[in-house]
Amino acid sequence: MAEGRTERIKKNIAAYPDFPKPGIVFRDIFSILMDPSLSADLMALLEERIATICPDADIIVGLDSRGFLFGMPLALKLKKPFAPIRKKGKLPGVLKRVTYSLEYGSDVFEAQSDSIKPGQKVVIVDDLLATGGTMEAACKLVSDMGGEVQLCLVCIELSGLKGRDKVPNPCHSIVQY
Ligand code: AMP
Repeated sequence: MAEGRTERIKKNIAAYPDFPKPGIVFRDIFSILMDPSLSADLMALLEERIATICPDADIIVGLDSRGFLFGMPLALKLKKPFAPIRKKGKLPGVLKRVTYSLEYGSDVFEAQSDSIKPGQKVVIVDDLLATGGTMEAACKLVSDMGGEVQLCLVCIELSGLKGRDKVPNPCHSIVQY
């Protein structure tokens, strides 16, 4: 049953070669969201992963920006709080931040200081794991804030890039390419 849903989702994620630059195959999660039945299956699979692996998680954290599409509905469904981690300059108030390296240069992730409390068990959600740099930075920010990352959950994993080797906490993905 679970395999049928996963296969159907995998088959329907649109791939765009050479976007946003030559050599990258962009895996477009929005192609799933255009079909309510696929969307529902994907949400159910994500929810089942959390319920199985860390049912007592305290908070769901979504990564800017496609992580919000999944993190927020999951939090609502599981009756847990939701908090965003955003690129620099988007969040108001007192912030915690982490700087992380990109292929060229660096970027900054920010969270509101009071959004994750010390000792809270955290699930981090994003659409896709590629090189793992984004998830690694999010894990660092959460742990700097005193949170314990129980699960890094993504819809898509580009397994060949071995991104999960970079991530210091357990990673799970729904489909792999
Ligand atoms: P990375 O830090 O390399 O693991 O990249 C992960 C982030 O970049 C995620 O937030 C994705 O949304 C985005 N991303 C990276 N590679 C792709 C890809 N091939 N297709 C779609 N999104 C990607």
